[in-house]
Amino acid sequence: MTPPRDKREDDTDSPPSSDEEGSRSHCLMRALRTLSAGNRMLLRAADEQELLRGMCRVIVDEGGYCSSAVGYARHDASKSMPVVAYALPNEHHEGEEAFFETLQLTWADTALGHSAMAIAIRTGQPCIGRNLLTDPDHAPWREDALRFGYASHTAFPLRVEDEVIGALGIAATEPDAFDEAEVRLLGELADDLAYGIANLRTRIKHREAAATVQRMAYFDTLTGLANRSLLREQIQAAIAGARQRQHPLGLLALSVSHVQEINDTLGYQQGDQLLQAFGERLRLAVSESETVARVGDTEFAVLLPKGDANHAMQTAKRLIAALYEPIEVSGLRIYARSTIGISLFPGHGSDADSLLRRARVAMANAKQGGHAFGVFTASLDQECSHRLAMMGDLRGAIEHNELVLHYQPKVHIASAHLCGAEALVRWQHPAQGMVSTNEFVKLAESSGLITPLTYWVLETAFRQRYIWHEAGLERPLAVNLSAHDLKDRKLIGKIKGLFDTWGAQPEWIQFELTESALMDDPVGALEMLKRLKELGVALSIDDFGTGYSSLSYLQKLPVDTIKIDQSFVSSMVDSADSAVIVRSTVELGHNLNLEVVAEGVDSQAVWDRLADLGCDIVQGYYVGMPMSAEQFTEWQGNSPWTSGMTTPH
Ligand code: C2E
Ligand code: MG
Ligand code: MG
Repeated sequence: MTPPRDKREDDTDSPPSSDEEGSRSHCLMRALRTLSAGNRMLLRAADEQELLRGMCRVIVDEGGYCSSAVGYARHDASKSMPVVAYALPNEHHEGEEAFFETLQLTWADTALGHSAMAIAIRTGQPCIGRNLLTDPDHAPWREDALRFGYASHTAFPLRVEDEVIGALGIAATEPDAFDEAEVRLLGELADDLAYGIANLRTRIKHREAAATVQRMAYFDTLTGLANRSLLREQIQAAIAGARQRQHPLGLLALSVSHVQEINDTLGYQQGDQLLQAFGERLRLAVSESETVARVGDTEFAVLLPKGDANHAMQTAKRLIAALYEPIEVSGLRIYARSTIGISLFPGHGSDADSLLRRARVAMANAKQGGHAFGVFTASLDQECSHRLAMMGDLRGAIEHNELVLHYQPKVHIASAHLCGAEALVRWQHPAQGMVSTNEFVKLAESSGLITPLTYWVLETAFRQRYIWHEAGLERPLAVNLSAHDLKDRKLIGKIKGLFDTWGAQPEWIQFELTESALMDDPVGALEMLKRLKELGVALSIDDFGTGYSSLSYLQKLPVDTIKIDQSFVSSMVDSADSAVIVRSTVELGHNLNLEVVAEGVDSQAVWDRLADLGCDIVQGYYVGMPMSAEQFTEWQGNSPWTSGMTTPH
């Protein structure tokens, strides 16, 4: 910015008369006053319009000129030059304001484009002392100039970042106003104005850039929701408020299911759409004071700044209901399911990180237990670290071949003949002893270890089946697949490879899939079953009766067998309800032309009831426990079931 100058010397050649000198020094004085007031204006103005108006006003009020105006050069077809600001003395002529308000100017090199301002814009140089009364270029405005008492006009270009963006025009009552020294000072004023404009524009750009940086630092770009950083700050602020007013607050962590499959099958764009729609559903389902944030790829969180466990659970239920309706992505109706974990201040932590972590632990626990939501409990922290340790051990056990397969016989009821076996994985932990299969299979499913586990089981089962084949034992061996395996795009290739490696026939191997695994993703599961079926293997629906599949869905499935869940079978002698379920499942299976297996048969009484109902096959402790390969061979040698046709009782 040019600082206000001291009084300048006039540098005309001939010595001036005292009258001339008086008028000249008057002109210089007013130009200097203007410059200095202009500088104050520059410091004060908060926006461009205020600066322009203020500068025009300073020129008229301090400089004593009869009007000043700023025109901006538009780059439109007619090169229009709208007057963006102007100022008139307090005592101005009638119609003068209206004149400026309606002035239509151009900076094009046409008949109407020879005003001083237009020339200053085109040439980038000041256009000085144009006589409005005699100059032919000013004919279009002469009448108005006469009316308002303007005699001369001077204009200065306004240059911002090397571009002339417009001009500052100043009118005076004297025809020969604007001598050289005055023009130099006014030129500096125009430069100061241009500098001020540039400065304000840069400030806006910086402000916008800072806002963008802020947005990026605190908001998730995909959903526009708060990100983890902003959520963390908001949790801290909410904790401070809750402490002061002594009320609890809640935090919900939510995971979205099915995003990975959508990414894999439809593409990332569709996966993103699902996440956006999910985020929007959440946002609409909570109140204004509650923050929804995206805290991970497929994880969201909701901060309830005020509320106890009851409020948090009610909110969780409401969110689950809001997410129940399918979300449309690329014309498909996707049932995005969510599991919610809840943590509470002060009970579960007094800082943002522990609340977030514990809400996530509660979420993982709810998911594992098959619940829609769950509240954190202190024991989960210990469970969590225990689980982490077990996860590492399980990974090692798979890699170092420390798992074993046990084989449980299946017997055909009518012939009392051994008709197959099921492979069940076992893990003897070096310190913890035998780990429950259900427990470590779930652990593998939740920790990404299920694929290596399944591959290990498949390899072992095929090898064992080959050994039996060599020994002349040709009964099918069933392998369990988990819900996650149904999403494994490499699984079919893996199985095909094993068939080739061992020269296996399709009858050698069967697969069991639990009904709930199928219902986890009915569409994807159906696809996978079709591909498995193309290999020629028999397929069973395991734990039937626990997964709520519909009859119409069942009919579509390319399966051969249903295995009635052992909870109904083992209790059918004592519970009339269970007996009814078993009976109707046998009938349903037969109506669908499916073979029916009852698992969990642990007594002769159950065997007899099943035989009465016409069930086809039984599996359970009554027939034989799951056994190691050696035990199984020995068992076969001595077992009454192997010879068939004779029931042992
Ligand atoms: P499942 O496939 O339904 O297997 C039957 C379970 O019932 C086995 O438990 C078996 O030991 C048990 N069982 C058999 N007969 C009786 C009986 O008469 N009474 C009682 N109370 N139980 C009986 P296990 O081996 O603990 O396996 C539990 C579940 O773990 C299996 O249920 C299966 O879903 C899963 N699983 C086992 N092995 C594998 C595997 O290799 N891969 C996968 N993905 N899952 C497996
Ligand atoms: Mg099974
Ligand atoms: Mg089962």
